[in-house]
Amino acid sequence: MLPMTPELERFYQHWLNGGIPSACRPHFYNLSHLHHTVFLMHTPLKERLIPPPRSDVSQYVEACRNVLLGWFEETEGLWNMVARALPQNAVGTKLTHFRDLIEHAYFTDAMKCESTKEDRKHHKAHTDRCVYDEFERLLSHSTLFVAVGGEAWDTIRKLVGPLSFVPWNNYQHLSTELATSHRPNLTDVHGVLFKNASTGKFVIPVAFPGGQTNPLRNSYVEYLKDGLAAFSHAAG
Ligand SMILES: [Zn+2]
Repeated sequence: MLPMTPELERFYQHWLNGGIPSACRPHFYNLSHLHHTVFLMHTPLKERLIPPPRSDVSQYVEACRNVLLGWFEETEGLWNMVARALPQNAVGTKLTHFRDLIEHAYFTDAMKCESTKEDRKHHKAHTDRCVYDEFERLLSHSTLFVAVGGEAWDTIRKLVGPLSFVPWNNYQHLSTELATSHRPNLTDVHGVLFKNASTGKFVIPVAFPGGQTNPLRNSYVEYLKDGLAAFSHAAG
């Protein structure tokens, strides 16, 4: 594994050795935070991580990365399509495989620790502090935030601030009335581009893969491609 950037290693060290209770299983996946694009997922996959010692940050992160890559592999077709759909201005190069994603984009979870719906409340306080700390770093470098799933969509709106819908002629399914409503439902805005007008940060919410996407007419990735095309156009 490539070495981590010192700043990210310090951040992980802080949260693994004191910031997050030792009984928790938080996941951290990255070697650098200097990416244009961030994927915010909702919660780590439960009980897939055999916890390595937290004292060795590199070893810990490597174990988390393997869990994430294992999940990408299970849904390989989808994540290969997501990798290929990302435009060069979002990731710096053309990606061809899901393995490229983790090298060229930042991955994180809105809920840091492995948890069930019932025990979320025990993790909320330390998770929130950790995510705010993490986003202080990410918001200074990253431009595009892809929120995967409803909880990630709620969290990203708190982190990035007020968002307004970016009009684009080629959306396949958009109801402008729904997208501009106060709290748009995720399936109504799956793959639609939003922007914070004062910071210039962009957000694309997408439904969690395999979740409630029945109202969508075409394949999951077709809608994301619309948002990415709108992003390419808007971000130049
Ligand atoms: Zn926790």
